[in-house]
Amino acid sequence: MEAEVARLRDELSKKEQEVERLRAVSAHLQQNSYSGNMFALVKQLTEVPPLEEKSLSKEEIMRYSRQLIIPELGVKGRLGLLDYDDVELSNLQRQVLHAEDKVGMSKALSAATTINRLNSNVECIPYHFQLNYKNAKQLIQQYDIVVDCSDNVPTRFLVNDACVLSGKPLVSASALRMEGQLTVYNYNGGPCYRCLYPKPPPAETVTNCSDGGVLGVVPGILGCIQALEVLKIASGIGSSYSQQMLIFDALEARFRTIKLRPKQPTCAVCGENPTVKELIDYERFCGSAATDQCRTLHLLTGEQRVTVQEYKQLLDQDVPHVLVDVRPQVEVDICHLPHSIYVPLAKLEEKNAEYVKLLQNNINLSRKEAAADIVTFPVYVICKQGNDSQKAVKLLQEILDNELCSLSVKDIQGGLMAWARKIDPTFPQY
Ligand SMILES: [Zn+2]
Repeated sequence: MEAEVARLRDELSKKEQEVERLRAVSAHLQQNSYSGNMFALVKQLTEVPPLEEKSLSKEEIMRYSRQLIIPELGVKGRLGLLDYDDVELSNLQRQVLHAEDKVGMSKALSAATTINRLNSNVECIPYHFQLNYKNAKQLIQQYDIVVDCSDNVPTRFLVNDACVLSGKPLVSASALRMEGQLTVYNYNGGPCYRCLYPKPPPAETVTNCSDGGVLGVVPGILGCIQALEVLKIASGIGSSYSQQMLIFDALEARFRTIKLRPKQPTCAVCGENPTVKELIDYERFCGSAATDQCRTLHLLTGEQRVTVQEYKQLLDQDVPHVLVDVRPQVEVDICHLPHSIYVPLAKLEEKNAEYVKLLQNNINLSRKEAAADIVTFPVYVICKQGNDSQKAVKLLQEILDNELCSLSVKDIQGGLMAWARKIDPTFPQY
């Protein structure tokens, strides 16, 4: 009993310390006036005190002794962490700074808390807002090295241009499925991101409801190498990845490095006659949103779409129809509506004869079973979030051209995730 009380006391004391730490970080956030407008915020943030040349304490020397004895490494540093988003359960599989008890908390604050728990001597500044063309330069100017871990094209262009205009090296990495890539831009006369990608890709090609996912360990490996490159740049050793791209193939567990093309004299931002001298609206420039959320496409008119509520009503009334699920197989394996038939978007795009036949057979069969008075037989298309389904409706209109007068092809707005949110809470969200 006494042992139990002692254990609980100990636990309580630890929790109290944790509350104190959170209060301190939260006070810091409030000092920086998160309720104020972005300019005020950034202006105040630009006023963080300059880094002191301080010596390490005895404890710090002990802690970092194995690193300090490497002659190239020094002792000062400040970490700014920027993320506009909050921690979600689906982040935890790969974003290991966040823990279960931080779900719902600002990611910047959650990461700062974890780092401070690992080491209370690290100066961490969390920034909980979205980086944009109005605030990026002021923020980036305060730091020596910028690390891009973002997942969308507008942010990559924004961060690149802000780094070029502020003369900062950019350590950039990305991961998708079983592969990761890393490059250091705007460093030591090497190319910037725009030198390699002068124009953003068409918005449709990056707007996809099935973004492929990522194996949790892949961003972890790339993140570690990013941290290594930051240390090397900060200490003056120099990075190995200027004009080089590291590619990590998790399937083969292999790294390879490819040489990239050099800095381009014609580059719009770092070239000889730059046309980009100030930051621009990158969401407009790229035609897509600077978030990891799926951008909503508007390919179809209102008459070509139904809501999940309308579709539920059709089901309740037993209206004969065919439901076509166009997601990739792996996602259909996670969850699907039992009465749907499966025709992946990729097969529609290549007008795959086998799948077109399967679709036509299903429509003909269901139509035969249906009452004879149906003039236009309904076909509904569903995907994860309602973008691919619109593309599929467009494709089906081409593929089923001859039969279109007797068919009505529509998509279900918001897809299966809207179904899960609004109709069936037991349906999995992924
Ligand atoms: Zn460039």
